[in-house]
Amino acid sequence: MKNNFKSLSLIFALLTLMFVSCSSCSSDDENTSDDITDDGTDDGTTDDDTLVVDVDSELFLTSDGSVTITTVPCTLSDGTTTDCYQIVSKSAPADHEMGPWCPENIADGADKGGIWLEGGEVYDVDGAFVENMATFYGDNTWQMYDENGDIYTTETEDDCANAANPNVGEEYENFCVECLPSYVTDLTATYLIPITPVKQTSSTNFGGMGGPPGQAATGPSQRGVAFNGTVFDAPAPTDAILGAYTLAPFDDAGGHINLNAGYHYHAATGVSTQLAQDDDHAAMIGYAIDGFGLYAQLDASGSEPTDLDDCRGHTDEVRGYHYHVDAPGSNNFLNCINGAYAN
Ligand SMILES: [Zn+2]
Ligand SMILES: [Zn+2]
Repeated sequence: MKNNFKSLSLIFALLTLMFVSCSSCSSDDENTSDDITDDGTDDGTTDDDTLVVDVDSELFLTSDGSVTITTVPCTLSDGTTTDCYQIVSKSAPADHEMGPWCPENIADGADKGGIWLEGGEVYDVDGAFVENMATFYGDNTWQMYDENGDIYTTETEDDCANAANPNVGEEYENFCVECLPSYVTDLTATYLIPITPVKQTSSTNFGGMGGPPGQAATGPSQRGVAFNGTVFDAPAPTDAILGAYTLAPFDDAGGHINLNAGYHYHAATGVSTQLAQDDDHAAMIGYAIDGFGLYAQLDASGSEPTDLDDCRGHTDEVRGYHYHVDAPGSNNFLNCINGAYAN
């Protein structure tokens, strides 16, 4: 996105040219549109850019008290002073159960465990997956079950705290890590989302571990919020988890629990509330952290949009600018954001 400044200058130059002499309007129009397309907006009609859809707080599942939303003043990353929704979420999605994560025995079926994400694929963490881990990862250190086939699983909040730690000790090698909802009943998470999203001329990399190597990552690490108040979080550090010979499965909804963040998603599997669209467009699943709409990866016919920008966003006449999340196996929802975010 280094070319944005140049592109902008070019657009202004072209616009000036159009005012001065309109004999070449059509060709200038084309050039202008190409530049805008390069910036990730859609299909060459600048009119699309004027549609900005406000966050609809009524889409969130607030009736059982697991999510509360208030309007607060906020300042965005581009200096905009505006109002944001402050979303306070308990670790208790109203629309689905949490878990299970770790199966108990290698004879257990897929209904007794969650999922794991590897190489872009989603795997059921059933007993057979655990039994097969040494082969799957080509490493005989994996032996996460005893002679009876019982799977070593964290059993207490202390275990959860210790085994889900980046510096996990050897005593937790070959443990399936699961932190239970009962450990985080008092935890709330707060997210600030601009009510009126403000598109920027260049994208922002995610902060935390979300940015590409070697590039500044100054933005938020969280990608967005589901209608049930659960965060679509930064990628799970699967290399660190596996490097410690632990497995921290996600449930079938793509979520798991840690003691600091509570319940959070690493994959959008279609379990949390989806808002079907009238035009076969992919269903809406929540809002990105910059206030733009967040939609499922695939439309009603199972296709991903072909015109997504680097962040996985595009523009249409119904929804304005919005994002489509990545495939569930990718351990990634979005690559970056194109809107200003609340500081
Ligand atoms: Zn996680
Ligand atoms: Zn779309």
